[in-house]
Amino acid sequence: MAKDIPAKAMATEKENINLVSQNTKLPLGVFLVYGSLLNKFKSTPIFILLSIFEAIATKTIKMQKFYLILLPFLLLPAIQSHAQQPQKPTAVEIYQQIQKLNFLGSVLYIAAHPDDENTRLISYYANEKKYRTGYLSLTRGDGGQNLIGPELRELLGTIRTQELLEARKIDGGEQFFSRANDFGYSKTPAETLTIWDKQQVISDVIWQIRKFQPDVIINRFDHRSPGTTHGHHTASAMLSVESFDQTNNPDIFPEQLKYVKPWQPKRMFFNTSWWFYGSKEKFDQADKTNLFSLQTGVYYQSLGKSNQEIAALSRSRHQSQGFGSTGARGEDTEFLELIRGQSPADKNNIFEGIDTSWNRIEGGKVIGEILAQTQKSFDFNNPAASIPSLLKAYQLIELLNEDHWKPIKIAEIKKIIAACSGLYLEAVAQNQQATPNSKVRLEIEATNRSNVNMQLVSILFNPEHTTIDVGGLLKNNVPFNQNIQIDLPQTLKYTSPYWLDKAGTVGMYTVEDQLLRGVPDVQRELKATFLIAINNVKIPFERYIVYKYNDGVKGEVYHPFDIIPDVSAAILNKVTIFNTGKSKLIGVKIKAGKDKVKGNISLELPENWKITPSSIAFDLLQKESEQIVYFEVSPPSDASEVNAKAVITVDGKRFDKEQINITYEHIQRQQVLKSSESRMIRLDIKTGNERIAYIMGVGDEVPKSLTQMGYVVTLLKPEEISKERLQDFDVVMTGIRAYNVLQPLALKQQLLLDFVKEGKTMIVQYNTTDGLVTNQMAPYHLNISKDRVTEEHATVHFLLPDAAILNKPNKITAKDFEGWKQEQGLNYPNEWDKEFKAIISSNDEGETPKNGALLVADYGKGHYIYTGLSFFRELPEGVSGAYRLMANMISLKN
Ligand SMILES: [Zn+2]
Repeated sequence: MAKDIPAKAMATEKENINLVSQNTKLPLGVFLVYGSLLNKFKSTPIFILLSIFEAIATKTIKMQKFYLILLPFLLLPAIQSHAQQPQKPTAVEIYQQIQKLNFLGSVLYIAAHPDDENTRLISYYANEKKYRTGYLSLTRGDGGQNLIGPELRELLGTIRTQELLEARKIDGGEQFFSRANDFGYSKTPAETLTIWDKQQVISDVIWQIRKFQPDVIINRFDHRSPGTTHGHHTASAMLSVESFDQTNNPDIFPEQLKYVKPWQPKRMFFNTSWWFYGSKEKFDQADKTNLFSLQTGVYYQSLGKSNQEIAALSRSRHQSQGFGSTGARGEDTEFLELIRGQSPADKNNIFEGIDTSWNRIEGGKVIGEILAQTQKSFDFNNPAASIPSLLKAYQLIELLNEDHWKPIKIAEIKKIIAACSGLYLEAVAQNQQATPNSKVRLEIEATNRSNVNMQLVSILFNPEHTTIDVGGLLKNNVPFNQNIQIDLPQTLKYTSPYWLDKAGTVGMYTVEDQLLRGVPDVQRELKATFLIAINNVKIPFERYIVYKYNDGVKGEVYHPFDIIPDVSAAILNKVTIFNTGKSKLIGVKIKAGKDKVKGNISLELPENWKITPSSIAFDLLQKESEQIVYFEVSPPSDASEVNAKAVITVDGKRFDKEQINITYEHIQRQQVLKSSESRMIRLDIKTGNERIAYIMGVGDEVPKSLTQMGYVVTLLKPEEISKERLQDFDVVMTGIRAYNVLQPLALKQQLLLDFVKEGKTMIVQYNTTDGLVTNQMAPYHLNISKDRVTEEHATVHFLLPDAAILNKPNKITAKDFEGWKQEQGLNYPNEWDKEFKAIISSNDEGETPKNGALLVADYGKGHYIYTGLSFFRELPEGVSGAYRLMANMISLKN
């Protein structure tokens, strides 16, 4: 399975991709927690959307077919059941951390998307070789599809960011990004680089190289083969090669040199595999004399896992992409091709000639010797015995006159010292959220679980610099607990992904602060620094403030502590369609971020839209309480598309953010604050009164959009399909990838086709080529392919301009294909029976016409429609032409 990763990663690219986490920010070196402490936290069940459960359920159904894929999920609870919990390393893990502390080498892996990374190679370098191993994913994967919930675009990018951070917690790597946005599928790097700002992306790659100082860079993709894979992929390799050639030149991006030095990596490789040769057979026969090979099928005795098993666990974090992966055992070979730098004589050692010991920094030799001795004498039954020598090393590292390895190694050794002594440090807020300028109660715990002499000197709270002096001894296994209250400053920033703070372009996020560029995670300012004297050596230990509670079923649950606005507002429908000139009631939810919030709310819309009343007063007494208010909105008589914004005024201060929380078990809970806007569209559209049954596939928002159009939509599960039940409907529509994930659909297919035969309409939205649950998806032969039109502005030609579907009840014109977002469609059929009529044609620049976007067949007395057009993207975005075409598809029978 693991061997199939490159094929899966690349062949299905764009169907895949993307999420978010906090690993580097969690309190580390933390051990057992006492049950009595947990009881202090009241249970608050996590609210999870029903649709997520449904999506997971359908996923599970698919997996019955590949039962092996379930295995990682069964293994996971032991390893990573709670994305949020602090890490609690075992003696074996501590020992490995010491080995890593005594190693100063680094490797940076570069590719384009969450999931492109070869987790076997990352795990091999991080765990077997002990290298500092980074993965620079140029994008956060906003452009993919979401297999576990409704989030798309920037919210999907937020989820995938966290999934990557969780993957790195498992394989031992570190995660980085650039400002490039995954804008969707791109066929060539040339096209990619017209949408990404090439200078900005190169600047970010060079910035990352100068910061990370890799000895070796490994590209996932080949920079010499444009057009053979996703344009983002080839572009990532091309930009990586260009950066390698320029990064040591001080005249390149000199503004970075305020913070970093020019740096020249020694070598660059391309991580090739059979995939790049077309087949395993071709690769077996290929001349490999210029390739370097690595035996990565290592078994880690002390961990009880093979390298491939760890890699599979890591890869299985990509849940939003459905990339559950099963680990293998036995031999495994990775191949690297030298792209830049001097070829090493030993083809098994790509780091030949690179000093990876403490000798590489001035004054480091003695530290290396102490750590070698610490390693040698490490007592697995008593890790605390290593503390005196670790303290000696800590003090020597502190004295180093060096600014790259020093902070890295200080962070590592502090983690190890805490772990060796069972030092548990925590600052837990009483609530998960608070507003700036409020008071927060914290429960502090500091527990030493060793005989090492320790004194808690003080605790400093940032960013307001409140220090409490403690001065008490931390006796072995006697917790120090204190309850304190801190004042949050007025200037505290709201918690939200920093890369979404400012509006970006289609291809780039806007991040003005150089120091934030490439930083993987959401920024949090609030932390507690415990100053602890260990054998009289004072060491500051930083911990982010967290929130936790005991869940009656799950046990201890951790969440990050978030800063929120005093009040937020969300317009309930993200798109409102006005089919006629009639007014609609627009609901807006107001949510209090603190007690006693009193103010006014209004809707901002252009003048030709009428709103009553112009403003509504509200008075919320309790934090987290909500109120829904309604405005009556009348559209203009002509077609119009506008954004409405909900604006709240409290004591003269304006609040215009919507608070979105993303909660999944496998990642840290995420808060995103977005402008509280929604789209209002006065459509020139005629709709019928068809009753629609919708069979949800992997999850999409199409039913919501259909409801907006005035249709009555029923979500129908495959199990509920019967001849009798279908009589309640005029149209059956399947959601995206329904035939990929709903195994029971195969058994109901005949009933659905009979439904069409008797005079009704069936509309099937796109499915992918792999793993169709039936080969009788349509009444006639239909072959799904990977054909797609990614250029959303591509000209659409009407092959059958007189076809009813283009004329009734709405006259469809070229204008209806204007303003589409990200793409026109995907996975179009490339072969079909003559009974199918191809209605439209378009293609990306330089390609042959693709005619499979919209296929219609008469079957019995009814109609069968297959469409790869991206209605699932266009309808939620409020694209009016997509609504008009959808209305015609639904009304085709008439
Ligand atoms: Zn990719």
